[in-house]
Amino acid sequence: MTESAGDGARLPDDCFALPPGVDWTPVDQALDRLRSSLRVVAGTETCPITEATGRILAEHVSARRANPPAANAAVDGYAFCWEGAARPLSLIEGRAAAGHPFAGRVRPGQAVRILTGAQIPDGADTVVLQEDCRIDAGTIDFPLPKKQGANVRPAGEDAQTGEKLFDAGHRIGAADLARLSSTGISEIRVRRALRVAVLSTGDELIAPGADGPGIPDANRPMLIALARAFGCEVVDLGIAQDDAGTVRARFDQAAREADAMITTGGASTGDEDHVSHLLNTEGTVTDWRIAVKPGRPLALGMWRGVPVFGLPGNPVAAFVCALIFVRPALALMAGAGWLAPQRFTIPAAFEKSKKPGRREYLRARLRDGRAEVFASEGSGRIGGLSWAEGLVDLPEAAAEIRPGDPVSYLPFSSFGL
Ligand code: AMP
Ligand code: MG
Repeated sequence: MTESAGDGARLPDDCFALPPGVDWTPVDQALDRLRSSLRVVAGTETCPITEATGRILAEHVSARRANPPAANAAVDGYAFCWEGAARPLSLIEGRAAAGHPFAGRVRPGQAVRILTGAQIPDGADTVVLQEDCRIDAGTIDFPLPKKQGANVRPAGEDAQTGEKLFDAGHRIGAADLARLSSTGISEIRVRRALRVAVLSTGDELIAPGADGPGIPDANRPMLIALARAFGCEVVDLGIAQDDAGTVRARFDQAAREADAMITTGGASTGDEDHVSHLLNTEGTVTDWRIAVKPGRPLALGMWRGVPVFGLPGNPVAAFVCALIFVRPALALMAGAGWLAPQRFTIPAAFEKSKKPGRREYLRARLRDGRAEVFASEGSGRIGGLSWAEGLVDLPEAAAEIRPGDPVSYLPFSSFGL
């Protein structure tokens, strides 16, 4: 792979600054501001299409050749010239098969054997299905197909030479590899994968699997998996104690090795909230008080030119904030453009009296065409994340939701999961 540098300059330190007087920010405003603060930072490289699944196009791609390159048969049968075909026709020697064109010309009054995928011979324009033919002593009879060109795939019907296939920013999927191959493309210019550093902070945290007192680090395995699902390469920064020196050293490592950083814990304004404290004193931070549940403050900051997504320590809140805020931001930085999850309006299978003022995301799943929600809204209930297959998104306004009322459902697949 050939590689080029990134788009150059890093992001400005004040890119997340909130206008004066802004307090609790509604989710949509926060998303708008995030969207307008960030830009593409991922560099570009050339990649063989065999390794391109999941990669993001750095530039648009046009067809190098037409597909199909020449008209060919859509069925097994006989090729002939439709205009003035007076049956029976005389069946000529030879045949056209895929990869083995018929060398001669089919004259008016003649037909030749043809197999699916074979190039239509000169002089022919229509194919009759073999099941519709009666062959007798060198002649062939059949009911005339209604249309000239029946059972023929015209040259370029799928793609014309030079036709634009994909825009820059498109994420390459398996089907796209067929599209690219069929139009003669073996290499594409893609964005380098965004490198994302993931750090858990908290004196109480222990490695998953460790015994003794402490809280196993639930966030880092989850966030590493999310970052990978979002198409990023991960720099695992481990667990940092609630100590300015340790957190600073990890931040510096992230600034050297990554394009963005996701941290959990310590994002609030308490004495031991070192993520926001450090960003406040030595970096730049905007403590975005986003009106979202589950959430609490989200610290968005810059550390030596690298954006820091300081998520709440609570795993449920960290998961929801990663989906709602971090995913579209990383996608934008990675060159895929801002990604809004596809949402579906579904009848509720639950009842809820919602207070006004905050956007709420409930752990949910679809059963029998209705959205059911996890029995507990407790933000400590990690089990509810596993139980769920998506989120129900309730707007800021107060609402009395009853079974059958329409609600907005975001399946996890809408977040690329
Ligand atoms: P904090 O945001 O640091 O105030 O943490 C909020 C809550 O989340 C506390 O109960 C923490 O113990 C818990 N917590 C923080 N980080 C993690 C983590 N990586 N895994 C599991 N729980 C965590
Ligand atoms: Mg903490």
